[in-house]
Amino acid sequence: MATEPATEPGAVADVGVGSADDPGIVAGQFRFFDAHVVRTHRLGPTLTRITFGGGQLAGFASGGRDQSFSLFLPRPGQPAPLLPDRTGDGWYRRWRLVPPEQQAVLRSYTVRAQRAEPAELDVDFALHGTGPDDPAGAAGPASRWAAQASPGDRVVLLGPAVADNRSVGFRPPPGTDWVLLAADETALPALGGILDWLPAGTKAKAWIEVPHAQDVQDLASAAEVEITWLVRGAEGPSGDGALADAVRAAELPPGVPYAWIAGESGAVKALRRHLVRERGFDRGNIEFSGYWRRGTSEEQLRAEA
Ligand SMILES: Cc1cc2nc3c(=O)[nH]c(=O)nc-3n(C[C@H](O)[C@H](O)[C@H](O)COP(=O)(O)OP(=O)(O)OC[C@H]3O[C@@H](n4cnc5c(N)ncnc54)[C@H](O)[C@@H]3O)c2cc1C
Repeated sequence: MATEPATEPGAVADVGVGSADDPGIVAGQFRFFDAHVVRTHRLGPTLTRITFGGGQLAGFASGGRDQSFSLFLPRPGQPAPLLPDRTGDGWYRRWRLVPPEQQAVLRSYTVRAQRAEPAELDVDFALHGTGPDDPAGAAGPASRWAAQASPGDRVVLLGPAVADNRSVGFRPPPGTDWVLLAADETALPALGGILDWLPAGTKAKAWIEVPHAQDVQDLASAAEVEITWLVRGAEGPSGDGALADAVRAAELPPGVPYAWIAGESGAVKALRRHLVRERGFDRGNIEFSGYWRRGTSEEQLRAEA
């Protein structure tokens, strides 16, 4: 998951190794960037936008769409994420050798927007387990960090050094007549990036599941997009099949579809199964990615992979 999105629900991709030509380049396409929080902005009850800045981000070559990257966060009390030596081959092995209580937290996130001069990246974090009524320990370290982030907080990103990189998953093939998009709140930033990128004239239908009505956002696109928002309610668990049920009940356009589905693994699996088995979608025309799995932390997913 560190350098590219998972392609199997709940699976994690390999973390790349360095290139012999440039020790700063990882897996041929990625590079480490030091950055800091510039500002934070609460988008709604669930999502908070964190804007990262820093001179190195001028070289961050986002490919747009669902461009993901690896985010390294400090442990509580640390001034910066601890990554012993991040040059070339072997950084991942060296990072793993750091004692867990000191090791930088590694999580996958998506670029929601990028700007130059000053070089800035917006990243939208879905907060979970950080509310006043949530039990202690319910939040993962990234959610906890995002809920408390403030200007100046230091992070490290492992992101694209080239715009055409493997961490962009949304790639409709030539001959696509229309696009189906489905996401929960963790993949809403990626879906927003895809809508920003879709050219005028493209037909798209999108389903987006969020916990609260106030999480619904205005999403711009040059494409002809019909968006259905599904609000599951504060108590409802995501991944209970609401996305698949909503698509099952919908009338889909004729022609060759390309589908992009991301969110909780179980929900992604259920919708993909529906599209393949009941709608006859070509498996090769479905890009699907488990962004998280209920009851399983990203470390546990990485260990399984
Ligand atoms: C390619 C990719 C791109 C991603 N982009 C984004 C993004 O832009 N924004 C974003 O918010 N997330 C994004 N995610 C998902 C994010 O990486 C996970 O939600 C991650 O688990 C959060 O880390 P954590 O430390 O908060 O929780 P973890 O320590 O990983 O997990 C702790 C517990 O919380 C549960 N959990 C994790 N996420 C959620 C959630 N959202 N709601 C409820 N329970 C949860 C886990 O199942 C586990 O039980 C992306 C994931 C991938 C693979």
